[in-house]
Amino acid sequence: MVQISYSGFMNEQRIRQELLERFTRYTAIDTQSSLERADAGIQPSSDGQRTLAELLLSELKALGIPDVSVDEHSYLLARIPPTSGSETVPPFGLCAHLDTALDAPGNNVRAQLHEKYDGTILDIGNGLILDPDENPELAECIGHTIITSDGTTLLGADNKAGIAGIMTLISILGETGTAHGPIEVVFSPDEETGHGMDRIPIEKLKSRAFYTVDGGAEGELETECFNAWKCEVVCTGVAAHPGTARGKMVNAVAMAASFVQSLPVRESPETTSGYEGFFYPLEMNASCEKATISVYVRDFDLAVMERRLDRLDCIARAVEAQFPGGTVSVTRTRQYLNMKEKLDQVPEVLEILKTAATRAGISVRMKPIRGGTDGSRLTEMGIPTPNIFTGGHNFHSRTEWASLDQMTAMVRTLVELTASWREYHV
Ligand SMILES: [Zn+2]
Repeated sequence: MVQISYSGFMNEQRIRQELLERFTRYTAIDTQSSLERADAGIQPSSDGQRTLAELLLSELKALGIPDVSVDEHSYLLARIPPTSGSETVPPFGLCAHLDTALDAPGNNVRAQLHEKYDGTILDIGNGLILDPDENPELAECIGHTIITSDGTTLLGADNKAGIAGIMTLISILGETGTAHGPIEVVFSPDEETGHGMDRIPIEKLKSRAFYTVDGGAEGELETECFNAWKCEVVCTGVAAHPGTARGKMVNAVAMAASFVQSLPVRESPETTSGYEGFFYPLEMNASCEKATISVYVRDFDLAVMERRLDRLDCIARAVEAQFPGGTVSVTRTRQYLNMKEKLDQVPEVLEILKTAATRAGISVRMKPIRGGTDGSRLTEMGIPTPNIFTGGHNFHSRTEWASLDQMTAMVRTLVELTASWREYHV
């Protein structure tokens, strides 16, 4: 098959301007989600997400997209019609999330440009710097336009770089002369709270596969994530007056401390990376009579995950043996599954993406996600969904930054993806 590079027809300068203009505008809207409200079932969990969804709705209409709507929970669904002659190509989808992270302030975001980055320390303001020694990804961005906040807030490249990329793609598809099939676009709320896919109108989606546009450095594609369980450990002791407690009291505070102490130190978030899994005790409430501990358990391998869960049960029995009269229960809740297994069953979904990135002139790197994404949930629901880079870095922090050049590479990849998907299916 002769493969033409459609993105070669892109007017890069114009794309950069449009990306930057959209990105700056979208990041200025405070769309930080609220964990408390999202946990209480309120969706969207913040008004700003609805404001952004409505804005995107009007911009898509202005771009001539006839079939676009925002539902009561702020899920935007748009259908990009196929080019003539490609009507029978099965649709695929692109998605990104409207909300920003809760880990740093998200209002009054003022994007700052640092043109022609020279490889030295970048002063981003408010006493914060980007040091290339601590941010090795900066070395790949010499000569680029770097975008940061003013140091008082996060930037929101997670995930507005993805939204700006998808919107720019839709805006320029015609100009590049790219033949493509039907495309579905979803912008969803509350990803950062873990509730992003709770109310996705799955019955309305016709796509065989989706791609989340929510990744990091140029070329990084993600098809693997953790298997994730949350375990609730309850230690039940026996309360007694401390003056006459001998032989009677069983202190749940001490039981909980013993439980946490028994978790392997070398298998914690702070001592692992890459493909290593961990136990993460993240919350504890304790009194003499009762203590509860929340433990996140993560592993890429499902069989190892089973052993990790069994290990918590073993620790529970050991603590009971250590504290006669006390009991320890462990309740397991599955949060999400590694999407790799399901993606391996439809290898073309990744192959088409790799072809697209290569045609866009990008060297591909496969990277495991040490977390989950909306894509892992969608994959579990039956729509295979790998993740594409956006050019954003240091997510969830006030030193978050993006490279405009890498964002442009994302748009090139998306243009080639629309073409490659069609070519595979005709
Ligand atoms: Zn994200």
